[in-house]
Amino acid sequence: MGQSEPIGAASEASLGQAAIRRLLHPVALSVVATHLALVAFGGWALLHLAPDTLTLHLFGRTHLVTEVHRRVIDRTVEISVLLPCIFFLEYLWTGWEQSSVRHLLVERTASGWSDVACYLFQLAPAWTLVTAIMSLGVVYISGEWLRGLLAQATGIDLTIAGAPLAFQVGVLFLLYTFFDYWSHRLDHSRVFWPLHRFHHAAESFSILTAARVHPAVFTAVVGAVLPGILLGCDRAALADVGLMIIIIRLVVHSRIESNFGWIGRWVVQSPLHHRLHHSLNRMPVNLSLLPLWDRLFGTWRDAPRTAMRIGTPADYRHGAWIVPDLWRDYCEFGAGLGKLVLDRSRRLNLAFGIRRSAP
Ligand SMILES: [Zn+2]
Ligand SMILES: [Zn+2]
Repeated sequence: MGQSEPIGAASEASLGQAAIRRLLHPVALSVVATHLALVAFGGWALLHLAPDTLTLHLFGRTHLVTEVHRRVIDRTVEISVLLPCIFFLEYLWTGWEQSSVRHLLVERTASGWSDVACYLFQLAPAWTLVTAIMSLGVVYISGEWLRGLLAQATGIDLTIAGAPLAFQVGVLFLLYTFFDYWSHRLDHSRVFWPLHRFHHAAESFSILTAARVHPAVFTAVVGAVLPGILLGCDRAALADVGLMIIIIRLVVHSRIESNFGWIGRWVVQSPLHHRLHHSLNRMPVNLSLLPLWDRLFGTWRDAPRTAMRIGTPADYRHGAWIVPDLWRDYCEFGAGLGKLVLDRSRRLNLAFGIRRSAP
């Protein structure tokens, strides 16, 4: 792996020159042109050829589906626009040899194929059903819904809706990353580790490593739901923070070997800091996308300037073979949780002097 230096004025200039050179490469230009043409054609075809309202006749009943255009755009914008942009920006930064596209398509490592398999699984509608069943529905709890119930019961309804959007986004980002920090810390506990271990099993980074998550991981719901319970805000702020989180998650798993200078030390986690989090010694450090929380709670470590080895000693097969291994992890988690509950109830019984009466 190559050396990485903090971003200084000189390295910024050379990085900029290299990025322009890569941007003007004929292959890069033709890929961008083809992609733009395909997206433009897809958008035109959707708006001009597909109806915005559909009438479906299913099992003798009639269903009306409205706003078809918006629904399709919402579902496809991440795949057709966001993901290609991140892949392309990574290529501009790292060059072709080090890029995720080359890693996934040319090197085709087993770990990379598992990342691709996870991403494809998540596109399938069945994934939604699997995550709902394995998490016992927890992942679909809505913070806004719970806040409504709470407001009804207590009369307390904190909200920043209507405040300037930048303010709402800032507050929400702080809240989200705070709870996400603690849910990630929980993921590294003995009981929850079997569900998080699969994410750490990646032996090499690619942008799609962000998609390598166990379908039963529900601790992330803490970060997603609690801010919504505590604080109301405009939908635009929720959407903006959601987009920021997706982008940061993709970038920290990229193959960019940079610590992002002071930005990576304070504002947004860098790929090298996240790589340290994935390193083989499995130290629970650099848990938050916002380094501030790691610094406050004593888990921040500065990243070495070289990319270190990542992975976990646990055995995982690759590609579609990950499915039985994910089931094994789920059983291990269930057994660990069951043991914890039994231990705790036994201790409670002892503490309160509850004994089984002798027959
Ligand atoms: Zn982790
Ligand atoms: Zn990660």
